[in-house]
Amino acid sequence: MKKVLVLEDEANIRSFIVINLIRAGYEVVEAETGEEALEKLRLHRDVRVALLDIMLPGIDGFEVCRRIRAGNPQIGIIMLTARSQEMDKVTGLMTGADDYVTKPFSPAELTARVDALMRRSGGVAPEAGDGELRQPPFLLNTRNRTLEKNGQRIKLTQVEYAIMKMFMENPGKALSREEVLDLVWGRDYFGELKIVDVNVRRLRLKIEDNPTNPTYITTVWGYGYKWGI
Ligand code: CA
Repeated sequence: MKKVLVLEDEANIRSFIVINLIRAGYEVVEAETGEEALEKLRLHRDVRVALLDIMLPGIDGFEVCRRIRAGNPQIGIIMLTARSQEMDKVTGLMTGADDYVTKPFSPAELTARVDALMRRSGGVAPEAGDGELRQPPFLLNTRNRTLEKNGQRIKLTQVEYAIMKMFMENPGKALSREEVLDLVWGRDYFGELKIVDVNVRRLRLKIEDNPTNPTYITTVWGYGYKWGI
């Protein structure tokens, strides 16, 4: 069963989300507060995607996201943001979210986002090839989806893994932000280009020797990114 956690303190918004996810074929676990969400995730270890509202009584959605990520790099996380709070998107992604949906959203938009993450979080089947991509000092193992730098494991989210794999498969090639969005999020994804930049920024914090002067994922000004200088 494909299980989704919905954290939203406003009962009417929560039931709107829950009804639409059930209609789309998902099993739903509900939580009203961040504390309750963390507790439910401990009980339901098979939850694959979590939708997190930000403004909550008690700990906020960013903190919930941070705590989930500290123990679980695999689960897909979507933040529910308000249209007026542009910074929320960036903050949410930097705390480890994979995506965000802006309120008010349509049922179709919501389920498309959940479907996309669900596909990725379920895509742990072994991939073809010899299972390893080497770009010293990095070693990407495509069978167990892990990354090592100088032999040290670096924990990646599913999105970060997908971005890393795309770069390592295309060394020295400038990729436009649109191409990155298509390759990592899929052609049917209707998100914003900003999500590419924020995920790259977060990935740089994990893999670069000096994230403010990146030498692995370099910027191609006015275009996109490239693996290598
Ligand atoms: Ca709220």
